[in-house]
Amino acid sequence: MELSGQVAVITGSARGIGRAIAEKLAGKGVNIVVADIMSEEAEETARKIQELGVKTMAARLDVSSADSVARVFEDAVKEFGKVDILVNNAGITRDGLLLRMKEEDWDSVIDINLKGVFLCSKEAVKIMAKQRYGRIVNIASVVAFIGNPGQVNYSASKAGIVGLTKTIAKEYASRGITVNAVAPGFITTAMTDALPENVKEEMKKAIPLGKFGTPEDVAQAVLFLASPEAGYITGQVLHVNGGMYM
Ligand code: NAP
Repeated sequence: MELSGQVAVITGSARGIGRAIAEKLAGKGVNIVVADIMSEEAEETARKIQELGVKTMAARLDVSSADSVARVFEDAVKEFGKVDILVNNAGITRDGLLLRMKEEDWDSVIDINLKGVFLCSKEAVKIMAKQRYGRIVNIASVVAFIGNPGQVNYSASKAGIVGLTKTIAKEYASRGITVNAVAPGFITTAMTDALPENVKEEMKKAIPLGKFGTPEDVAQAVLFLASPEAGYITGQVLHVNGGMYM
């Protein structure tokens, strides 16, 4: 895959799946903007990734704030002159059954997981449309397709991402921009570490491949969709879930 010298903005990439995506793309020579609400961790991750021989920039980003998003894309263009790839990875959970879920937990998950993708895509498309080239990869989730008790806010935000992906794909295909989603199943990260052991064991039984995925598994799928070679694929969802949904 020929990605050397390209520039990627990856949201929520200080740790977890986002960090694995940043490392994977950097391994192919892509310069990386490590954008995360955790600014100190973002700086540390950016420093580590530089050791792979690419340029990096650490940016404090709140994806739910239009001003913050605009600033990061402005800084990225100042630093690197372009943005070829956007990976909308930042996401949070605030779980609770419907009748117990607080309105603020609904709002914060929708603001970060869904509005964040809208705001970042808008800034990226402004740049990519001029370049007549771009790759946007959005991180959805298997729960967008199968639901999950306790995650009415999260599953709605991820299902929203699927609709948004297809629409932006149709709107900007003529500008050489592809927009796809990757829908991970159960991946071992800080987000899932918090679950009780018995819940994890139950979940494992529902996975034909019999194990949880790794951030690297997701990163590999993102790398493919972010590459020039995936240029005839747009508006699609690539499921990375060990067969738990098919
Ligand atoms: P993670 O370890 O919690 O990493 C997410 C990163 O995003 C964190 O550094 C987080 O910072 C950051 N973030 C949170 N709010 C932000 C904001 N407003 N602006 C910018 N950055 C923000 O989670 P992960 O497991 O790697 O998940 C990454 C993505 O994959 C998410 O979209 C998640 O929904 C999706 N996903 C994960 C799984 C899984 O099994 N792990 C499965 C399906 C989909 P803080 O830590 O300060 O919040």
